[in-house]
Amino acid sequence: MIRKRTVAFSPHAVNLFFHILTRCNLNCRHCYINPDQHGRATLPLATIERWLRVFTAIGKPANLILLGGEPTLHPDLTAVVKAARRLQFASVTIDTNGYLFHDILERITPEEVDYFSFSLDGATEKTNDALRGRGSYAACLDGIRRAVARGFSTSLIYTVSSANIDELAQMGPLLEDLGIERFFIQVLGIRGNPAHAADEGASDPLLQVDRERWLAVVPAVAQAIADQGLTVTYPKVFLPPTEAFACAGRVADNFFVFPNGRVYRCPLCEDFPLHSLRIEDQGLVPMPAINENDLFALDIPEGCVMNRLVQPGNLAYDGDGAPLYRIACCLLKEEILPPGAAA
Ligand code: SF4
Ligand code: SF4
Repeated sequence: MIRKRTVAFSPHAVNLFFHILTRCNLNCRHCYINPDQHGRATLPLATIERWLRVFTAIGKPANLILLGGEPTLHPDLTAVVKAARRLQFASVTIDTNGYLFHDILERITPEEVDYFSFSLDGATEKTNDALRGRGSYAACLDGIRRAVARGFSTSLIYTVSSANIDELAQMGPLLEDLGIERFFIQVLGIRGNPAHAADEGASDPLLQVDRERWLAVVPAVAQAIADQGLTVTYPKVFLPPTEAFACAGRVADNFFVFPNGRVYRCPLCEDFPLHSLRIEDQGLVPMPAINENDLFALDIPEGCVMNRLVQPGNLAYDGDGAPLYRIACCLLKEEILPPGAAA
């Protein structure tokens, strides 16, 4: 039975990554939220419902991921979830830092939410809190335990950087103890806070791990944690020579929506006014060139164009200037299923 696979981009579903506010109680070092580009509004419930309908009207099964900032700070999150269910979204996920404001666990049911997805960036309090802020480790673990106790399905996102890759393997026992069902490993993006820190010449900027380190650590840890009985997902990042390159911006229906009405198709574009769409009363309105669509159309030997532009530090070249490898779309994932699960 095949347990490991690359999850291909699906043209048959809509994935809506909906930032319903940008406010947050934390200030994580790797946060990609950029209020100058994304706005500062907390969207009113009526606007959220109107915008949700825009994406169900596309006519494909739609998955909703509710994001912030911290989405549980939104006073109407309960009503947003219920509206999404009424509108027949295929799945609803709430990403959270674990503080779970407004008694959200008491106000919705496990039938209404497919996953609460928690973010933790260290297996120890010391490492996590250095990245996400004092007290955030304890709050996140407490939030997970309360969610599991009430019967919610839970997943956990771990953003790998130079500061925490050494603790990735230690996540196995912690995930088991917490009762987490799905584990998502992410790669640090050079956008938002990390990009600003680099621009400002911070003495200890957070760094992406290099290719050798990533390949030596991440696939093996992911496999070991999947063997414990979890589904583990991690970005492919480095494309093997035999595998064709694909840009999700060309082939998939992913929409990253922000409170100021910007709609991106590519997360790496989110630090720039490169969104290809705006959401207005009449629905999705295309933006004039030049926007991210013009970049998706470019074929370059390095693979992902936006990676080449915004985080070229993860590329390497031979003496003739040819890239030694290609970078995959940041949305291309490897998934490893638990033993016994059918692929
Ligand atoms: S919890 Fe999320 S939104 Fe809040 S600061 Fe951290 S990364 Fe940013
Ligand atoms: S990350 Fe690169 S390959 Fe993926 S959608 Fe963006 S530009 Fe395209």
